[in-house]
Amino acid sequence: MSRSVTSRTRREWLQMMAAMGAGVLVEGLIPRKLARAAAGGALQQPQDPVAAFRARIGAIPIESQPLAENLTLLAGPGGNVVVLHGSDGLVVVDTFVAPAWPKLQESLKGFGAPVKTVINTHWHFDHTDNNAPLRAGGATLVAHENTKLRMTQPHHLAVLELDFAPSPAAALPQRVFKEGYKLESNGERLAVTHMPPAHTDTDVVVRFEKVNVLHTGDVFFNGFYPYIDGSTGGRVDGVIEATGRLLSLADADTKIVPGHGPRRDRRQALRRSRERLGQGEAQRGHVRQSGLLDALSGPRPLWLDQPLEPNEPPSPFSGSGNP
Ligand SMILES: [Zn+2]
Repeated sequence: MSRSVTSRTRREWLQMMAAMGAGVLVEGLIPRKLARAAAGGALQQPQDPVAAFRARIGAIPIESQPLAENLTLLAGPGGNVVVLHGSDGLVVVDTFVAPAWPKLQESLKGFGAPVKTVINTHWHFDHTDNNAPLRAGGATLVAHENTKLRMTQPHHLAVLELDFAPSPAAALPQRVFKEGYKLESNGERLAVTHMPPAHTDTDVVVRFEKVNVLHTGDVFFNGFYPYIDGSTGGRVDGVIEATGRLLSLADADTKIVPGHGPRRDRRQALRRSRERLGQGEAQRGHVRQSGLLDALSGPRPLWLDQPLEPNEPPSPFSGSGNP
């Protein structure tokens, strides 16, 4: 799904880079050929662009926020990780990027119990990178069957211009499911539910039923247009439908943890996201329906620089923030 980059698009990217200044993360998200152009050729092509990209995300600090007495949000180097803690051992949703492992390990040690279960919301590297060390430490990795499948394949993510090799066997989920998965631990009930193809074809959402917290994975980017990975089954209409399902899973008191962006305690942000992606937006011509997938996943993706709300940070990868 590669597209040629027009000079107009290139100028827009360069202007955007200038406006964004020194945000290392945002630079990391810019296709490398444009980054080289912006540096006037002075920027050397990294030996390993994927490693360089991981390192940039991994440099973000981890911010810890309590969600409930036994539930904590760790936000930072690769989105939002949620940890259920207690004497039964830890249940961890998503795992950050590989270079963040020392920080993640230190944060998890602070809960004073071993990691028993890891749930991946989907196959992307920023949600599965630390599977292997967690599995080596005794955790059982749980994910949708398509996550395991996608992790065994090589992938080219066009928006990042990066090629990802298959994950090592030691990082693959040991327990997979098709529709859903239920788990009881530390006095909490977890319901893990597969979404039809939306952000990818591997997406699940995790509901912590007693404390009423919903981790949406990357089906929902709070404050930003979603990134849709068409290379592994992502679909615009799927994201709209999945957002409707998220709304049906949440009530007025649900704490909503998006895949990226700050936590939200109300459903309003979900509704707004669905509305913007839906027919109203298409009819107004701001984003034509036919071009929406390209707009969301092409060389100038909306999710990088088009906040849904004016006060959101300049990138969904720039940290958690508070609602
Ligand atoms: Zn993702």
